[in-house]
Amino acid sequence: MSDPTSQSRPSGRLRLRTAAAFAAVLLTVACAPHTESSAPAPQSAVPQATTAAPVVEASPSVAPTVEATVEPPSDIKAMPLREFVAGTPSPSAAAESGRRVNPPPPGAADCSRMKCIALTFDDGPGPHTERLLGMLSSKDARATFFVTGAMVRANPGVARRIANTPGMEIANHSSTHPQLNRVGAAQLRREIVGNHATIREVTGKEVTVFRPPYGARNSAVDAMAAEAGEAVILWDVDTDDWRTRSASATRKAVADQARSGSIVLMHDIHGSTVDAVPGIISDLQGQGYVLVTVSEILGGSTPGRVYTRR
Ligand SMILES: [Zn+2]
Repeated sequence: MSDPTSQSRPSGRLRLRTAAAFAAVLLTVACAPHTESSAPAPQSAVPQATTAAPVVEASPSVAPTVEATVEPPSDIKAMPLREFVAGTPSPSAAAESGRRVNPPPPGAADCSRMKCIALTFDDGPGPHTERLLGMLSSKDARATFFVTGAMVRANPGVARRIANTPGMEIANHSSTHPQLNRVGAAQLRREIVGNHATIREVTGKEVTVFRPPYGARNSAVDAMAAEAGEAVILWDVDTDDWRTRSASATRKAVADQARSGSIVLMHDIHGSTVDAVPGIISDLQGQGYVLVTVSEILGGSTPGRVYTRR
């Protein structure tokens, strides 16, 4: 698919995209995180010339590398930090003491007594997200959606649909999807605290869990998540859905790897992943698993603490 805007894109952005993709490849080898950015679709040139946010409707298979070139709105930068955690104990102090300060949601499954699995979907909200929500709801399955600020700004109605669908959890996946272990303190704050503010502004929800893009984190990332009142969530089951783009392979990856307490990594920006979900739900519920959110499977969480599974 040719895209006329790709001819006029500034070379600086091209260099950024290339560098980001290359760095993502390196990181994949080192950390085995999800690396959707390392496999940009050939047609990943979205028409950015007229808009700051990626227009996912125009290019459903766009790889999120474009997010790395999007600056968060200036209002995020000016947002005072303490607003995000007003009324709660200091998350940093709580993290240091190991005390849990984010309780499980009301009506949460008791995963200390039940077989639970947490399905998670990153990088949206996108063009397949509403279809996915319908699939989940119709089967009494819950899930967690780690959204970027850029995609929330581009698809605010879908973000609200996630937040307002009973049982679903909306969660923080940074503002622009960079490798957070390679950014300075000011950008780190915009990415984590800024997206907390974006999600709250658009959906009214106070997010309590955060997933660093590519799983790339360090002590500064964890500390910033603690400031935002959010636990750091990785995964123990990687479906590789961004790479295979195959519903059957994604379903098989879950069936082969998931066990009680697992946190499963997927990406709802890919139609093939969403196509896999009815089979995944059938497989897991057929084995007696309850499909829950991250906050449910953890039974609450401590801001700044890193989790890979229950
Ligand atoms: Zn991601």
